[in-house]
Amino acid sequence: MSVPNYEEMLKKARKELPESVIFAERFEIPKAKGHLEGNKTIVSNFGHIAKDLRRPVNHMFKYILKELATPGVMRDLNTAVFGTKVSATRINEKIEQYTRTFVICSECGKPDTQIAKEGNVTNLKCSACGAKKPIKSKI
Ligand SMILES: [Zn+2]
Repeated sequence: MSVPNYEEMLKKARKELPESVIFAERFEIPKAKGHLEGNKTIVSNFGHIAKDLRRPVNHMFKYILKELATPGVMRDLNTAVFGTKVSATRINEKIEQYTRTFVICSECGKPDTQIAKEGNVTNLKCSACGAKKPIKSKI
């Protein structure tokens, strides 16, 4: 009787994984529409992006401001004003990063998650697969 080695077992296990696990559903991350006003960068659809991601706009805005190390204010519910010139590419990169950290489930790759506080721990809970992952609550 031959004992399968680890490599073979791994190969076999991978073969048996359903495709959906390997190719996690691709979630389209909304793109920021930005333009410059003097030295400021205006993103006119910021509120809509947060809505698409089902996250509070201020949470996403605070995270992105910190990541870009720039000051900023929300002009209205939908319009974000960054205090410096920032390229749309960079803003989109940060939105993507935010989405990966606070929206997409790390287990199944789906965006059906919510942020839930349990005692001192803040978790990202997935409604699709039930996974729970602690995330930083303070931005
Ligand atoms: Zn999941």
